[in-house]
Amino acid sequence: MKAPAKSSGLSSRAASTAPSRAPSPGDAGGGGGELFALLAEHTHEQVSFYYDPASGYRGIIAIHDTRLGPALGGTRFWNYLDDRAALVDALRLSRGMTYKAAVAGLNLGGGKSVIIGDNRITRREPVFRAHGRHVQSLGGRYITAEDVGTSTADMEFIRAETEHVTGLLGKSGDPSPVTAYGVYRGIKACAQVRYGSDDLSGKVVAVQGCGHVGYSLIKLLHEDGARLIVTDIDAQRVKSVVEDFGATAVPTDAIYGQQADIFAPCALGAVINDDTLAQLKVAIVAGAANNQLAEDRHGKQLESQGILYAPDYVINGGGLINVNAELHGWTLERARNKAGEIYDSILRVFDIAREEHIPSYQAADRLAEERIAMVAKVRQNFV
Ligand code: NAD
Repeated sequence: MKAPAKSSGLSSRAASTAPSRAPSPGDAGGGGGELFALLAEHTHEQVSFYYDPASGYRGIIAIHDTRLGPALGGTRFWNYLDDRAALVDALRLSRGMTYKAAVAGLNLGGGKSVIIGDNRITRREPVFRAHGRHVQSLGGRYITAEDVGTSTADMEFIRAETEHVTGLLGKSGDPSPVTAYGVYRGIKACAQVRYGSDDLSGKVVAVQGCGHVGYSLIKLLHEDGARLIVTDIDAQRVKSVVEDFGATAVPTDAIYGQQADIFAPCALGAVINDDTLAQLKVAIVAGAANNQLAEDRHGKQLESQGILYAPDYVINGGGLINVNAELHGWTLERARNKAGEIYDSILRVFDIAREEHIPSYQAADRLAEERIAMVAKVRQNFV
């Protein structure tokens, strides 16, 4: 997004980026020029670095865009190769959150934080309380949640220092049923576009991954009369959906070449790549997994193979809708209804793609950018 760079504020409680070892040439702090060049390239509103010598906490919070509302995005705890890799990850992921929230119709901006280190540490309280203080220092411009390497218990430590955290014990709970419902509605919208009807009875759906989202999605598709082909590396999960919904199991590598109407990736990212594109025999790719396209060019390739692609961050927005529900005290029913609107968003994405002669993954970005620009315009006056 070519949003104007409003400010690239760098804040730090202790020494600026302060790595606990001498900076390497690849470190974000290794050269100021490189650091600000990165920020300018990514057009983020603010990036905050915080080092707490007592706990060893080293965290980065990237706020991409707050024109729709406070920046929301999880905390990733990861042993990055170097500080630069951590910063790039925070910049990339926070931007993704801006787009996801915008197309989901939520009043949230995009943010993300990373904690640098081994996420298997047992002394978690000081690290996550330090992170909580970092979040608090931004005064509500950033709201955090769970992500890779963090747990609900970690969110409770953060909560001791700030109220700007979601995904707490006993609150909105597992987002997967809401995500699955949104994906189901998105698949129906794809069927409407491709077949002129969103009736899924008799349609064959190949589902990769029978985990939290996969299981709930398979259930919904089964109730609609779809025929299911499934795979998972976990034999027990496969067994459940075979027994519960009469699905046909195939080996993991065989899922891409199935003669089916729809392929629903619900396990891993980067599953649409040169290798799998050569195998796909479906008319639609629509599933829950994040970052399904290995590279952007694979989105174009899907298009040229005549396969309709539901952009991942549009169709899997139910998880974020569930987090938003917790923030605003929505009922599960209200969250589910909001996720149901993914049907209309997917239709709109395909409309834009058709009107502008662009692939659907680009049309999704256009939809997000349109909404942000429109809301920013409405809110520019003093009230
Ligand atoms: P999960 O871990 O519960 O399920 C993933 C399943 O995929 C597991 O059963 C795992 O065994 C299986 N799997 C892993 N590698 C596989 C392989 N090579 N082949 C086949 N199966 C494989 O995760 P989930 O919560 O169901 O999420 C699924 C996907 O959807 C992830 O990519 C996640 O990032 C994305 N997503 C989830 C949510 C949510 O609300 N849970 C929201 C948005 C996006």
